[in-house]
Amino acid sequence: MSNVDYIISCRVADASYIVPGSLTGKCANCGEVVLISPSSLEIRQANPGSQFLCIQCGLAQIEKMGGEFIGFTPAQAAEIEKYRRRRRNGRTIPWGD
Ligand SMILES: [Zn+2]
Repeated sequence: MSNVDYIISCRVADASYIVPGSLTGKCANCGEVVLISPSSLEIRQANPGSQFLCIQCGLAQIEKMGGEFIGFTPAQAAEIEKYRRRRRNGRTIPWGD
């Protein structure tokens, strides 16, 4: 796996869907409580120096540092597909588009 500095996670306060088996942690920047899905935990374990950031702080960090998103794991892709299915079923989303 590529070197990962930050893992971006949804704030608990913003979550409309919780991936089964998720844990909670804290954003390394603002201290908000974030959800850590099983696939995010796997990335963390493979990259011991990485830190969790909430989506808001993660996007700000990318702008500031010029970082980039790297590919999703199959488990993350499955989580995203579940999220999209939920959206198609008319549920509200926490961070509109
Ligand atoms: Zn944050």
